[in-house]
Amino acid sequence: MIKTDILIIGAGPTGLFTVFEAGLLKLKCHLIDALPQPGGQCSELYPKKPIYDIPGVPDILAGDLTNNLLEQGKQFQPGFTLGERAETLERQEDGSFIVTTNKGTRHHAPIVAIAGGLGSFEPRKPLIENIAYYEDLGVDYYIKDPEVYRNKKVVISGGGDSALDWSIFLADIASEVTLVHRRNEFRGALDSVEKVQELKLLGKINLVTPSEVTALHGNKRLEGVTIEREGVKILYEADHFIPLFGLSPKLGPIGDWGLEIEKNAIKVDTFDYQTNIPGVYAIGDVNTYPGKLKLILCGFHEATLMCQSAYQIINPGKKYVLKYTTVSGINGFDGTRK
Ligand code: FAD
Repeated sequence: MIKTDILIIGAGPTGLFTVFEAGLLKLKCHLIDALPQPGGQCSELYPKKPIYDIPGVPDILAGDLTNNLLEQGKQFQPGFTLGERAETLERQEDGSFIVTTNKGTRHHAPIVAIAGGLGSFEPRKPLIENIAYYEDLGVDYYIKDPEVYRNKKVVISGGGDSALDWSIFLADIASEVTLVHRRNEFRGALDSVEKVQELKLLGKINLVTPSEVTALHGNKRLEGVTIEREGVKILYEADHFIPLFGLSPKLGPIGDWGLEIEKNAIKVDTFDYQTNIPGVYAIGDVNTYPGKLKLILCGFHEATLMCQSAYQIINPGKKYVLKYTTVSGINGFDGTRK
């Protein structure tokens, strides 16, 4: 059981900044995210896009903002459970909570801060009859550790940047990479398309277009896939099938936790962003209230007020006098410049 003061569901910019604000109050945080990396929309949807409306930062790439937020929170040593979706919330008799993920990891905390943004990003799955059977037995929707594919036969399908980039990357690791796409044209960056064509000529990538993977085979785990082109079916040996068709956000299991929901977002009290369940807060894109704006800086503000309120629940009756970070001297944060 992982224990912490504030359990944050969602490691997007709002969740990451919560670590810093909580740290100033000597509160420990642990973050759960369904994605294998932190950063939420910034790292998953637009890491290379500039952002111009972070106060005091005229221009920053979304990926760099994520790195900076991680750096800012590092001093407070947050914990991470990545690549797992928070599935259930159980209120304990003492008012604390146990949150369990889809992989069975249990977390215990007096405070839960839902910073789930648009929801957990679920992979778009191809319509292949027995695909669920092979999940984690050769079918992967994310690549967490490329080493898993060393000297393996890998079939990737998709026409966007992820499919192209991973095909290029795995060409040096896997024993065989086959890229399948239902059209001849790819949607990804031109540069990546050219690189894939080069690797095809060098015999390092099998490019199979316009085609689709229509069936999966194997006894205890994946052993092969059927690739179909204009009604002609060919069986390919494969240790792994990686469909990379993008991710779609869904509020998912959070919607069943007894929270007041309005238009797919969680209703909160703007006093401290608490939900209808005492001790459970919702901050950032996931919440709604009159005048709500889905902007990063609004998430930062909400996280800050939420931490002050959480402090009062964790330390009932204890007075906290707000000081500026440069004079606080809290938790090793002495305000001196590094
Ligand atoms: P998110 O970034 O959505 O992160 C939420 C995280 O929670 C996700 O990683 C998700 O996987 C995780 N999660 C959800 N449910 C679960 C669960 N059950 N279990 C585990 N994990 C879960 N905003 C600006 O201020 N300026 C801009 O210039 C700007 N440009 C944008 C451009 C684009 C193309 C897009 C799409 C958005 C842009 N935004 C911009 C909006 C900004 O990205 C969001 O406001 C911000 O990401 C919200 O942060 P968040 O942490 O609340 O949520």
